[in-house]
Amino acid sequence: MYIVDRPEAVMVRGDGSYLYDHTGKRYLDFVQGWAVNSLGHCPAPAVEAITRQAQTLINPSPAFFNRPMIDLADAIVGKSCFDRVFFANSGAEANEGAVKLARKWGALNKNGAYEIVTMNHSFHGRTLAMMSASGKDGWDRLFEPKVPGFRKIDLNDLDALTATITDKTVAVMLEPIQGEAGVFPAQEGYMRKLRALCDEKDILLIVDEVQTGVGRTGKLFGYELFGIEPDIMTLGKGLGGGVPIAALVAKERVSCFVAGDQGGTFNGNPLMCAAALAVFTEIGRPEFLQAVENSGRYLRLKLEELANLHGFGEVRGQGLLRALNLKRPVGKTVAEYAFREGMLINSPRPDTLRFMPALNVSRDEINEMTVILDRVFSEVARA
Ligand SMILES: *Cc1c(COP(=O)(O)O)cnc(C)c1O
Repeated sequence: MYIVDRPEAVMVRGDGSYLYDHTGKRYLDFVQGWAVNSLGHCPAPAVEAITRQAQTLINPSPAFFNRPMIDLADAIVGKSCFDRVFFANSGAEANEGAVKLARKWGALNKNGAYEIVTMNHSFHGRTLAMMSASGKDGWDRLFEPKVPGFRKIDLNDLDALTATITDKTVAVMLEPIQGEAGVFPAQEGYMRKLRALCDEKDILLIVDEVQTGVGRTGKLFGYELFGIEPDIMTLGKGLGGGVPIAALVAKERVSCFVAGDQGGTFNGNPLMCAAALAVFTEIGRPEFLQAVENSGRYLRLKLEELANLHGFGEVRGQGLLRALNLKRPVGKTVAEYAFREGMLINSPRPDTLRFMPALNVSRDEINEMTVILDRVFSEVARA
């Protein structure tokens, strides 16, 4: 079924920061499945875990506990401020769960309050409710009628937030760094005041960390950047290192689902949990996270050099989630030229390039990316 334009190339093999197509052409991958392959293509720890688990137990049914599910939940709880985990199969599904949990909590504790404040330009996924929650430009007129109950305001605008909260408000949901919008961070002061406001009004704070979670920002979870504790967090993308798994994570006090409220056929299946556990264990090591921070700083430096050289604007983001403001609408052209030159780069908006390499990307690979981009920028300027 047609859903998007794709190039002719058929991708057949991946190894670390490199992807290979059916002709044998090699691509330096700074997209990594949209920040999904956190350890690069086919990382040994995940391959070994998947192989071992596939030979042991693939699917006992979600009616039973399984060992990888328990171990992964323990690992996430052990490294975060949360107590409870529900595994899902995609970021959108985890976010749906977060909204359901907040509405249930509102029904039990806040007189049936159900409204959730979300942000303009936010991205929470492509299910009907998440398209309703998202603030992506153009989505407000798609697939009507929408799921009601979402009120949108600008990120980092505390006055707008105060003005939007009513008796019906049960939660605020936002990305610590708006990824799909083009890498726009929430400010630390804003997040701290938002946390205080939520406490004051008894409203839940939900962070969508589908893109920022699991080491992407140099912290294991993006909320750590602000020194706050949310009530609910969702993970996806990088959690499985390439395989489809996501998580709804919450504090004990808000974990109010009863039997039948939430579930799903593939949820918490041991094959995906085993892969995710291997990836999470590697990324959770303090030395690994320190290396992400260092690589992120180096990437920012190289991007700033390129920006100076070619007259571009600012570099945004944290860790290995970065964006470069091109100041003119050539992002798509740059990405197309780069593809021809053997490099994958994403342009989330016409004037912006986004960088989300493997978290174990090397300095040599960052240098190689810089050389290719430098050449591509000159070609695009000439054209
Ligand atoms: C990608 C993304 C989602 C959606 O995840 P899917 O796995 O595609 O459903 C949700 N929220 C954020 C912040 C994302 O970046």
